[in-house]
Amino acid sequence: MRNNLEPKVEKDLRVSKIKIAVVGSGPAGLCCAGELARKGIKVTVFEGLHNSGGVLRYGIPPFRIPRDVLDFEIDYLKKLGVNIIPNFIIGKAKSLDELFKEGYAAIFLGLGAGIPSFLGIGGENLCNVYSANEFLTRVNLMSAYKFPRSHTPVNIGKHMVVIGGGNTAMDSARVALRLQVMNGIKPDTTILYRRTEVEMPARRLEIEHAKEEGVKFQLLVKPEEFIGDDSGLVRKLKCLQCQLGEPDSSGRSRPVEIKGSDFELDCDLAIVAIGLKANQILTKATPELKVDQYGDLVVDAQTMETSIRGVFAGGDIVGGEGTVIEAMGMSKKAAQGIITYLLEE
Ligand SMILES: Cc1cc2nc3c(=O)[nH]c(=O)nc-3n(C[C@H](O)[C@H](O)[C@H](O)COP(=O)(O)OP(=O)(O)OC[C@H]3O[C@@H](n4cnc5c(N)ncnc54)[C@H](O)[C@@H]3O)c2cc1C
Repeated sequence: MRNNLEPKVEKDLRVSKIKIAVVGSGPAGLCCAGELARKGIKVTVFEGLHNSGGVLRYGIPPFRIPRDVLDFEIDYLKKLGVNIIPNFIIGKAKSLDELFKEGYAAIFLGLGAGIPSFLGIGGENLCNVYSANEFLTRVNLMSAYKFPRSHTPVNIGKHMVVIGGGNTAMDSARVALRLQVMNGIKPDTTILYRRTEVEMPARRLEIEHAKEEGVKFQLLVKPEEFIGDDSGLVRKLKCLQCQLGEPDSSGRSRPVEIKGSDFELDCDLAIVAIGLKANQILTKATPELKVDQYGDLVVDAQTMETSIRGVFAGGDIVGGEGTVIEAMGMSKKAAQGIITYLLEE
């Protein structure tokens, strides 16, 4: 960024001038777009949201990914000639067939996993029980921390509880605590997790940073029921204490409930951060796209081609560890798969 270097182009005259469509502008879509554009290929990225970056924009807070760095990367792609069309949902506004008919020679799908999982316990529909996705999107993408200068509000509680032990839970807790401080509320944000810190899927550094900021941790605790008041607002969370049992299919020790250990926590805002599932608008609208039991796209491991010829995929939509670096790795492989496909056709 400091050296303001010019984008590196290695035009491949065999494939330059060809049009490729990329669906989704998260790290998978953007990385694939960059790889292809550097070969001189004309890339159009379709993004459902009004701003690009995927989770890097709407999920991960700016204090972890500064937005000037993200904007710099996206501007770099634009300098390479990548055209990004926001507010455009493929599967609703246009189908894959229509993209092919418009002359796109191949399509890359970087749809991500943005559908939140819920606990399925009583009271989860009470007001002020948010999914982590909604909470983070309101704050990060829609700038709810500036409300009413921004259009989107977000509620802030005196006793905020975040359920989960992954990076999403850590980000949600740190954002929640910062909102309390910004609004003159005594910080009181607690992470609840069913196992111990050893089994937490979050990166160690994220756990340490959350602790440093003052986020409290209650471990070996399982939420049982949200309890509300007469106006439908959450007020308490009933929980059960757990202990570690035998390892489960993930290899981590299973949390075993301790009978009769029920207790209640003060909780006037809860954020459920227990996992995300594949975005399914496009896959549901395109039955020829083969998906597995989780709704993830099935791809060829070498080329990243889906069950439709000329349609490739990478990132969270094909499963895996669900990290940025893995999404980028898959999309680089897919870009290579696309170039090989173009040369064969
Ligand atoms: C809060 C949070 C914190 C995280 N922290 C870390 C971390 O510290 N380190 C790490 O490595 N990973 C982290 N991850 C995971 C990482 O962000 C993801 O693995 C990564 O973003 C996946 O990239 P992607 O491009 O596949 O999907 P996404 O980033 O989800 O992008 C997909 C994009 O596609 C768009 N889209 C979907 N369907 C359509 C459609 N039909 N038409 C048009 N557009 C569509 C979506 O709007 C979205 O913008 C975190 C995730 C979350 C939620």
